[in-house]
Amino acid sequence: MENYSQSENKRPTSKAIMDSSRLVFPGGVNSPVRAFASVSGSPIVFERGEGCTLYDVDGNSYIDFCASWGPLILGYSHPEVIAAVTSQAQKALTFGAPSKHELALARKMQEWIPGLEMLRFVSSGTEATMSAIRVARAATGRDKIIKFTGCYHGHADCLLVQAGSGLATLGSPSSAGVPRGAVADTISLDFNDEEGIKAAFLKYGSEIAVVCIEPMAANMGLVLPDPSFLALLRELTSQHKALLMFDEVMTGFRISRGGAAEAFGVQPDLWAFGKIVGGGLPAAAYGGRAEVMKHVAPLGRAYQAGTLSGNPLAMVAGLTTLSVMEKTDAFAVLETLGCHLDNEVKVKLQAPIEAGKVTYVRKSSFFCFFFGTAKRPRTFSDVAACDMKMFAKVYHHLLDDGVYFGPSGYEVGFLSTAHRPDHLSRLVDVIAQALSD
Ligand code: PLP
Repeated sequence: MENYSQSENKRPTSKAIMDSSRLVFPGGVNSPVRAFASVSGSPIVFERGEGCTLYDVDGNSYIDFCASWGPLILGYSHPEVIAAVTSQAQKALTFGAPSKHELALARKMQEWIPGLEMLRFVSSGTEATMSAIRVARAATGRDKIIKFTGCYHGHADCLLVQAGSGLATLGSPSSAGVPRGAVADTISLDFNDEEGIKAAFLKYGSEIAVVCIEPMAANMGLVLPDPSFLALLRELTSQHKALLMFDEVMTGFRISRGGAAEAFGVQPDLWAFGKIVGGGLPAAAYGGRAEVMKHVAPLGRAYQAGTLSGNPLAMVAGLTTLSVMEKTDAFAVLETLGCHLDNEVKVKLQAPIEAGKVTYVRKSSFFCFFFGTAKRPRTFSDVAACDMKMFAKVYHHLLDDGVYFGPSGYEVGFLSTAHRPDHLSRLVDVIAQALSD
């Protein structure tokens, strides 16, 4: 791919570190999208972050809209989060035994998410979704699962079918190395396809254990559910005694206080959470109705365990993040910022929007620009038809001007409470300039 970067010569140390990293890590990275494969050029190596500003190893600074892929809703190095983690680090990094912090965080999550009757902490979103599916299968005694094309639920074998995020950038939405048997019971349908889901239930109704969905898809850009789609999933799963699982690893504690279940008015049986819940440290959780969660070991026979599950550092980081959000009325702050962004887009990107060069979507603190389309995508095929080459060019304009996003057109931008209106105005100015160039 042609290299669109004009500013790589300002990042010699990043480049040298990446050249060495490529000899050690596959693609030089520890998670594929970080390799910049879909935007060209060499990844940036960061040294520190403060508020919404990131600093690289060459001393360049960037306004950050990646938020470490979502967790950092308060921005980098929030003083209260750092103080809580530092204080806990002096007591113990991990016990591998119960601590009061896991109970405190669980209770706070229950306050925010009605219906989260019982939960289990794990260390990544992948573990959360994988374990939720295991418990759903144990509780129903059924094997088949339904997921939606372009949704990403982490990298458990049974979910690596037609997935979004990094798999989408590879041009092959399913992974090699997954045995046919592992995905034999996975059915992948189009997001927002009401006829597709009705037909699947007609054919397999009594065999379906769980329907697993990102209730707002944020791993294929930002795709909102049609108004009746989630309610239809609820109705069909209830009717056929299957379970409904919301993967709220992205949306949990970010789209609204009660998550997507509250934002879209549909209550699942099971949830997966991650990202914000660990406040920037590795923590995630799955949970839901007690009747279902009672199938998890040691109460039940669905086995799941973890050396660092519920570790106290991540627990205090998560709890402090949620407490600061409450104290500072974070959702109101984020919505005000979001409205400012909407307004800037309306004023400064009116011509390219009218010309069908770009479509802007925002929900709460999530936003996304789709290039080369006049219409808001509803499915993965709509997203895949967007102009990813144009995204790559605009991406490098943004980097050259000191604005950082996740390096892929299939990812979303995140607002944090550390952003100020002028950061958003700058973002839109650079996009407007990039499009006119
Ligand atoms: N589910 C969703 C919706 C995600 O966005 C992600 C990661 O981006 C995952 C699951 C996997 O989480 P993790 O990367 O912590 O394994």
